[in-house]
Amino acid sequence: MRNTAAIEKVRSWVEGATRVVVLTGAGISTESGIPDFRGPQGVWTKNPQAEKLSNIHYYMADPEVRKASWKARLEHPAWNAKPNTGHLALAALEQRGKLHALITQNIDELHQMAGNSAEKVIEVHGTVRKVVCMACGMTAPMQKALDRVRAGEEDPPCRDCGGILKSATISFGQALVPEVIERAMRASQEADLLFAVGTSLQVYPIAGAVPAARAAGAKIVILNAEPTQFDGIADAVFREPIGATLPQLLLP
Ligand SMILES: [Zn+2]
Repeated sequence: MRNTAAIEKVRSWVEGATRVVVLTGAGISTESGIPDFRGPQGVWTKNPQAEKLSNIHYYMADPEVRKASWKARLEHPAWNAKPNTGHLALAALEQRGKLHALITQNIDELHQMAGNSAEKVIEVHGTVRKVVCMACGMTAPMQKALDRVRAGEEDPPCRDCGGILKSATISFGQALVPEVIERAMRASQEADLLFAVGTSLQVYPIAGAVPAARAAGAKIVILNAEPTQFDGIADAVFREPIGATLPQLLLP
């Protein structure tokens, strides 16, 4: 009963909002079968050796690490993942003209696959569906590079300059892209309603989008399985599964 009232309250905020900003983390993608790498049950948390494959220093220095990384990319769970009802609810929010920005820590492009436009999605950790040359900056589709791996190249180099190719994601030890973070923070300050969905809000600077939006006058809604440090400043907090809850909050 209390929950129904909370859902109705948030629905009325969505009705009245014109600039909704949504921040998404691993929790929305785990419901599409993509494991959380950093969370309490995360792949890296349980097996620190696996983190080595995602550390930029090992990757650049050691061809064996790169070969192992390419093998892992062939099996990446993103290739078979499909957007879930949570992703689709966010695409519908954009169709209603209410979505100001969709900031995501995910690298799987499931938001774009669900129908959100590339211009609305701010990928703070990049995308696994592209490769980037670490020497010349060339980018290309990941699947083309994976075709070369399948054809026998264990560590395919850049075809333009011979440099090292890597997924276009932010690896451990690698700096975030300042322009992307600035865009995310600016959008958060322009929000009239901010949703934090499936993120533990522990990773800065992007976790700071929540207090920044709050300070600029936005209402805050947090939907996450675990408590977060910002639950106390949120106007509504939900712990339910995202795919079941987000459509109830967002769909007309
Ligand atoms: Zn290159």
